[in-house]
Amino acid sequence: MARAVEQTKSTEVEAAESPARLRDRLSRAMLRAIGEHRLIREGDRILIAVSGGKDSYTLLDLLWAARRKSPVRFELVAAHLDQGQPGYDGRPLERWLEDLGVPHEIIREDTYSIVLEKAAGETSYCAPCSRLRRGILYTAAERLRCNVLALGHHRDDALETLLLNLLYAGRLQAMPARYTTLDGRFVVIRPLIECAEEDIARHAAAAGYPIIPCRLCGSQDGLKREAVARLLAQIEVENPGVRRVMLSALKNVRPTHLLDREVAEAWEAAAGKYEPRR
Ligand code: SF4
Repeated sequence: MARAVEQTKSTEVEAAESPARLRDRLSRAMLRAIGEHRLIREGDRILIAVSGGKDSYTLLDLLWAARRKSPVRFELVAAHLDQGQPGYDGRPLERWLEDLGVPHEIIREDTYSIVLEKAAGETSYCAPCSRLRRGILYTAAERLRCNVLALGHHRDDALETLLLNLLYAGRLQAMPARYTTLDGRFVVIRPLIECAEEDIARHAAAAGYPIIPCRLCGSQDGLKREAVARLLAQIEVENPGVRRVMLSALKNVRPTHLLDREVAEAWEAAAGKYEPRR
């Protein structure tokens, strides 16, 4: 389990990087995560949820390119959910999917009105919206005969989740690179989990993806996730590279030095199987 962590270099150290090099570096970080966490297996049929944001465009673009050279055979299907947001125009996204040549489906469901109603008086639209979208995507995955769902979460999403849980929920929990849904129907993977958001943003701008802004959460501020993102950015200013160190920490856990009895007992039960870290 213990091993030195190969760091993902980010723009903090690579200021004048060409778009091609940046794309290549992101792709290598993605492939490394896929290999390290065994995210993709022979015969997988993977649904990629393309939201219209920079992360899912990047994921689909890089994974579609990687598929051609991969020794592991897998299939990709893209799905985009038109949520019925006012002013929504999905035509550039559809053209982009057609140009890429990936099999895809556009699903149209008015989740916008439902989320507005459900989240009335709440501080965040994202939680109810995500649950709703996830359910729709699971249904689509089943219909499209996909056994894996790939999400575009990146390193900074994982670190923000870690801090949110630590500071507000009293839980030591980030985001898994791979897990099986509770009902056992799907495997969910996050191939960009070790990629820096700043790199993805720079790549997406250079690639010219037709971004579709979200008009729901864009109008909200003061959310806990944003506060945590600001905190991380502030720490990064004072300690350049701190996000990379934090990612390393997620891959370098010392169960013997936590206070969770279940974890301690599981660790003791596995005595001899793993070497304690120094
Ligand atoms: S509110 Fe917008 S950003 Fe938040 S989960 Fe829904 S679509 Fe995504």
